[in-house]
Parts: sequence; structure tokens; C-alpha cells
Amino acid sequence: DQFSLKQTIYQELVEWDKKYFLHPTTVPKTHVEQGPKLIFSEGNGIYVTDIRGESYIDGISMLWNVNLGHGQKELAEAAKEQMSKLAFSSSFVSYSNEPAIRLAEKLVSLSPGDLNAVFYTSGGSESNDTAFKLARFYWQLKGKPEKTKIIALERSYHGVTIAAQTATNVPAFHEFSGSQISGVFHAKPHLTHCELGERSDPNYEGCIRYIVEKEGADTIAAVILEPVQGSGGVYIPPEGYLQAVCKLCDEYNILFIADEVICGFGRTGTMFGVEHWGVVPDLMTFAKGVTSGYAQLGGVLIKQSIRDTLVEYDDVLAHGFTYSGHSTACAVGLKNIEILEREQIVQNVKNMEQELKKGLKYLEDKHTIVAKSRVIGLLAGFELFADRDSETPFDPTVKAAVKVVEECFNRKLILRALRANEGHNIIAISPPLTINKDEIETMIQIIDDSIAACKQDLM
Ligand code: PLP
Repeated sequence: DQFSLKQTIYQELVEWDKKYFLHPTTVPKTHVEQGPKLIFSEGNGIYVTDIRGESYIDGISMLWNVNLGHGQKELAEAAKEQMSKLAFSSSFVSYSNEPAIRLAEKLVSLSPGDLNAVFYTSGGSESNDTAFKLARFYWQLKGKPEKTKIIALERSYHGVTIAAQTATNVPAFHEFSGSQISGVFHAKPHLTHCELGERSDPNYEGCIRYIVEKEGADTIAAVILEPVQGSGGVYIPPEGYLQAVCKLCDEYNILFIADEVICGFGRTGTMFGVEHWGVVPDLMTFAKGVTSGYAQLGGVLIKQSIRDTLVEYDDVLAHGFTYSGHSTACAVGLKNIEILEREQIVQNVKNMEQELKKGLKYLEDKHTIVAKSRVIGLLAGFELFADRDSETPFDPTVKAAVKVVEECFNRKLILRALRANEGHNIIAISPPLTINKDEIETMIQIIDDSIAACKQDLM
């Protein structure tokens, strides 16, 4: 009958998944034993449905990217229309296509300051690698080829291609397979005082300024940071931090790269994260939210002065991906931005930020293990402590955050524990930007019930 046929198909998919599909950022041994957690088949708004018909709230927009939510037919239509016209067109050797041109113009008009040109990629890691290469190349053109080093921050996540992985500081990713490039340094994040140059600060050696002075500004190409750190634990910088880094970069003639892969396109309640602090980076990388995940697209926005130097170059700019400026992806990006503006999504993010803040405050008031909640726009996190007053962590073997996330999952809410393998108990929340008040309340209720249900287990 129908039911057993469905069961058979499902079992076959599970077996093939276990056998043939090596999953990213997954424990292979567990995966081949247990198979896929869910096999997603469709979605609508904040909900995703698995092939067996169960619906879940996507509390993290999958990988912080499905910003307009699932089932946005207009994005599907835009892709279909463009793809029906043109399979693909090269952007190499001066070929171009209309969606890529129009999106470039749109991105420039949306982005802060004089970020006035774009280089396309297919994702965040490629964008950050591209930013590093453009930064180094810029300094070569400026007659300073020795300016090659990159400073990133501790807890940063910039992706997994070899240069981006080296800049990434989340240990599992940074160390994976031992692949590293040379000349990448990590500073302690958010030490405002020493960014400003207080050498008497006991943490001075962890500061960007210390690294610059030790290595020599003449050897440093760029500083990269996420305006709000995402995968490293959802950390919002203190007021003044980004401004201080920007000033320091100016002072030492170092390029400032903002990684807006998560923050970009409304996630934090402004179009781009840097707008909260009024700074304009020299290079700004984006991906994810530019298409709400409906197509693979990323890129680097480039400041006018850097663009002017690059376009003076009279030989091949020998960098580019087959899919740089993919016509379908760019058409989806354009439609995505059109919807963001038309539906005033950024305003919704600002409104819903208040609801999410209320929700997390409620959880902190109710559960003594919940602390350090942080919310900027619809990018949020909170932590679990065995004793929050003394900030005593849970025994790492308890895996407190993983347990709570599992409980939420059992109650049909998908969340994510960050850096659990390092003993952290941080839970991320980043729902689609289209979420409403009732849906936020439902999420908070599920988290509330889940914490209550596993509290005994954690102690
Ligand atoms: N930068 C940031 C801030 C990210 O969060 C991510 C992915 O999560 C990346 C870069 C890497 O992007 P991708 O996975 O598209 O290569």
C-alpha cells in the first residue's frame, strides 16, 4: 500500500545517504550508523518539512541564510525565468550578462559609503579568499608587495577554503587537515582599550595594534572581522570597537575587510552590520542572505579608491570562478533585494528584535541556567551555565546545549549549539527575517519547555 511504499522509498534514501553522501560538518562515524537526521523536502515561511511529512520551525534559517523564509515562489520564478532564457554566461574576458550587471548596480546603491564595485563569487569562503587576494594585489599595485599578512580575530569564522580556514579561529575548522597559509594572525576580539592604543593594558599582547607593531605595518595587508561574530558564538562588539579598528587600519595603512556573510541583507536590523557602528570597510564580503539561500552567490564589494587602482592594471586580473556572476544566481539576488525592500523586511527585523529580546529575558527570568543572552536584529544567542552567578560551566561531558537543542528538535524546533565540541554551551537563534510575533512566541515556548524537560538531566 501507499504507506509501505513511502517507507520503502524513505529507507532507500537513508541507505544511499549513509553510503554515498559524505556530509560536511558532520560526524562521519555517527552519520553512517544513524543516517540523515531529516531529509528536507519542502518549506513554507519559517517551516520546513521532511520527506516523512513532519514540519519543523527553522529557528536558524538553515545556515543563517534563508532570510526571506522558505517557499518564496517569486524567487523560484525569477530563477526559472532567467534559467529558461540563458543557461549560463561567462564573466571572464569581458563577457557579461544583464542580471549580473543590474545586481552590481543595486549592491553598490545599497552598500554604505563608497563601496562602488563588486567582484562575484559563489559563496562566503570564496569571497573571503577573494578579499585577501584583492588586498594583496592592491598593495602590489601600490608598490608594497611585502604587505601580505592578514589579521583576523579569535572566535572568527570566515569559511573553509584554505585561506579562509586559516583566518577562521574556531579550532575544529582552523585545524582541520592541517591546511594553513602563512602570515595569518589572530587578535583577541573586542579589547577596545588596546585597539585605541593603551599599551599599559594587561591584554595588550592580544590586540590588533600589538600584532601590527610587532610584525610591522609594512607587512600587513588587511584586518578582517565579522561585524557580529556568528558561528564563533554570536558575539556583538562593544560600542566603539569597530570604529577603533577602522581608525587603527587608517592610521597604519591597512585595509579593513568586513565579513558580512551573516550580517548582510538585514539580519541585524540594518542592511549591513557595519551600519550599526557607522564604519565603511575597504572591502566587504557577502554571500548567504544576498539570495536568501535560493541560489549560490557571494561577492566582495570594493571601495572606490581600491577599484580605481585595480582598473589601472593593464594585464589579466587572473582571479575568478566559473560561477562568478552566474546569471540565475544574480537574477535571484535581484528579486531577493526587491522583496526585502518592498516588504520592508529590515523594519520587521527591528520590530521582531524587541520580541526576541523579550523572549530571551523571559527565559533568563524563568531558568537560572540561562544567561548572557544577546540579540541584534534577528541574530541571537544565549548560554547555559551550571551556576550562572559564578559563571560555572556545565561539565563538558553533559553537553548541556546539545541536549537542549535535541529537546527543541523533538518539539519540532531546529536550533543549533555552537562550539559544543569545545565545551561551550551557546545556542544560536536566527530565524527567517519574515518571522512574526506569534511565531517568535512559539519558538520561545518550545525553548522554555525544552529547558524545563531536560533540566534534571543536566545537573
Ligand atoms: N563568513 C561567515 C561570517 C560565515 O558565517 C560563513 C559561513 O557560515 C562563511 C564566511 C563561509 O561561507 P560559505 O560557507 O558560503 O563558504
